[in-house]
Amino acid sequence: MKVGVARETAPGERRVALVPDALGKLTAAGIEVLVEHDAGAGSLIPDSAYRDAGATIVPKADLYAQSDVILRVQRPTASEIAVMRRGQAVVGLLGPLLDPTAMAALAERGVTAISLDAIPRTLSRAQSMDALSSQANVGGYKAVLIAANTFGRYVPLLTTAAGTAKPANVLILGIGVAGLQAIGTARRLGAVVKAYDVRPETREQAESLGAQFVRLKTAIDATGAGGYARELTAEERAAQQAELNEVIGGMDIVITTAQVPGRKPPVLVTADAVARMKPGSVLVDMAASPLGGNVELSKAGETIVTANGVTIIAPDNLPATMPAGSSAFYARNISTLLLGMVRDGALHLDFEDEVTKATVITHDGSIVSESVRKLLEPAPAAGAPGGAA
Ligand code: NAD
Repeated sequence: MKVGVARETAPGERRVALVPDALGKLTAAGIEVLVEHDAGAGSLIPDSAYRDAGATIVPKADLYAQSDVILRVQRPTASEIAVMRRGQAVVGLLGPLLDPTAMAALAERGVTAISLDAIPRTLSRAQSMDALSSQANVGGYKAVLIAANTFGRYVPLLTTAAGTAKPANVLILGIGVAGLQAIGTARRLGAVVKAYDVRPETREQAESLGAQFVRLKTAIDATGAGGYARELTAEERAAQQAELNEVIGGMDIVITTAQVPGRKPPVLVTADAVARMKPGSVLVDMAASPLGGNVELSKAGETIVTANGVTIIAPDNLPATMPAGSSAFYARNISTLLLGMVRDGALHLDFEDEVTKATVITHDGSIVSESVRKLLEPAPAAGAPGGAA
């Protein structure tokens, strides 16, 4: 079986799906690894490092023509899908629910699409395949470093002959994987850290890392399915925003990471709250996307400075800003998933297996993921039974 490592083509994407260190396990399983010329360039990994680890470097056309399985970070583009062939498989963070038509195109070409973001995250055996977590970890770490770098003062308490610097007050909103890493990183930099989440179980996790959990007077328990949060009701949202406004005003740095699966991210920092912040304060909105973010004023991919001197940063791909580190973890995730699907040197999909069942989106010319199929169903016509009146 030939496994190909594609060069990423999304703008700003510097990660690569496999690093040379990860090749050994694949070659030991009888897999021949092809690497697209310059696939590692964004992570400063030269072709020669892959060659030394046992891979063959090939031009793009050969990679797409010869590989049985193509490994990548992001979803292939329409032109890449157009050169893929029946029976081939592609594995990556494909975001099938964000672009169901790309999944339909893959199914039409007979390509098996396997998406790492569909892994059942609470399954302990799947932890080493959990690329959402490994990449969110990088994001939480980098968000704090970017905030500290932008902040015009020291983050730690510092007593010197020239005076004393007070430690920065940092607030982390959303205590999932990224939030926990952000708490740990801000604490290591010496900040005084507060954190808040709508899942009460996160309190102990935040406290164990040295953060103070923010308790709102309005008790909200928004624990949803699979360890995720549910969307808040309008009343809960209003109460939360009003109380958070009080806390946010006193902060030097706020990092937001709150997401609700399949929904627009909740607004946690309103324009009003930003207006109460001191000049020089910094916000990093990790949830920002074209759909909106946790900070009302943030603009995905941009940095803005408000009239009252608050910097709002909405980075779009934090893991890509630390490409070698992110790729090393991602390579472990993707190779563990792949090796779990290989029998006797060939891809063998056992749909009884929980990981396979969850991650295979298209196979044998059809879309096997029910959630993707639902998104592609035509909306009921007006006047039709079940349609709009
Ligand atoms: P996520 O990116 O979906 O959301 C980040 C955080 O935002 C979550 O903690 C969520 O509760 C919080 N949030 C949502 N709405 C909010 C609001 N209105 N106000 C404040 N906070 C809000 O989460 P994630 O980092 O992907 O993690 C999701 C869950 O998956 C967590 O429970 C995590 O522990 C779990 N997880 C489990 C495993 C495992 O068991 N192996 C692995 C990875 C993640």
